Amino acid sequence: MTTLTTRFVSASLPYVNAVPHIGYAFELVLADAIARASRERRVDTVLVSGTDDNSLKNVRAAADAGESVAAFVDAKAAAFQALPDKLGVKLDGFARTSRSAVHRAAVEHVFRRCTERGDVYKKHYRGLYCVACEQFYLPRDLTDGCCSVHLVPPEEVEEENYFFRLSRYQDAIAELLRSGALRVTPEERRSEALRFVERGLVDFSISRSVSRARGWGIAVPDDPSQIVYVWFDALIGYLSALGFPERERFDRYWTRADRRLHVIGKDILRFHALYWPAILLSIGEALPSALLVHGFLSVDRVTR
Ligand SMILES: [Zn+2]
Repeated sequence: MTTLTTRFVSASLPYVNAVPHIGYAFELVLADAIARASRERRVDTVLVSGTDDNSLKNVRAAADAGESVAAFVDAKAAAFQALPDKLGVKLDGFARTSRSAVHRAAVEHVFRRCTERGDVYKKHYRGLYCVACEQFYLPRDLTDGCCSVHLVPPEEVEEENYFFRLSRYQDAIAELLRSGALRVTPEERRSEALRFVERGLVDFSISRSVSRARGWGIAVPDDPSQIVYVWFDALIGYLSALGFPERERFDRYWTRADRRLHVIGKDILRFHALYWPAILLSIGEALPSALLVHGFLSVDRVTR
């Protein structure tokens, strides 16, 4: 029997509301360089990515373009799928979240398991939502009443949603970050993640009404009136890209890997450092071991 060491590296799953931009190309190349260096050292390494198809942002971009969501998302996702080849990057797994039956099964599986664990509950909610971030914010998160990434005021949303009991994992997440069991690089991003935890983790909504999601996305198991929140959906793409909930390839390259690294942009740190480990703790799967957080690269400027 071979006991080859295995390793997992991912680039994030971009929204497909527009054609690929240089920031994502940068991330792919960065993740690929790490995967290649690892293979040079004879470590059996997979590099995975995908597209985050099910966001409200995509739905709105399709409406603005006067196209059906499916046609719009398919066309944009195709451009993202063609990008690795153009960059000389070979991916070993790709989650197209609106088209993959494996991904849908993975999301349903995780939702059900979190529910069985007592980590999912329904509540009436009123909150401030930035569609560009696809995230609810508390007033304390805002800068002069605006989302601090997009500098626009969030929308007020009121509906009944399913919530994930993130608060239950406060101590576990704090310990992960403090001990370095989840290593966040660079250090300033680790401090930022720790500051989020120290302010107190608040349960977050993991579904949307069908009407607000405009019927686009993966339905909540046993409740077709709700669509799974796009971030809950997209993070699971890291697992479904390896065939999860089927175990074989997933166990080989995730569960038994010596390193599970996500390469991400600075704007999605909180999803990866807080939400994602909590979801994995809830379902009893292995946690990522490292996050490499890069700044923004755009045509005119670099932001650290
Ligand atoms: Zn925003």
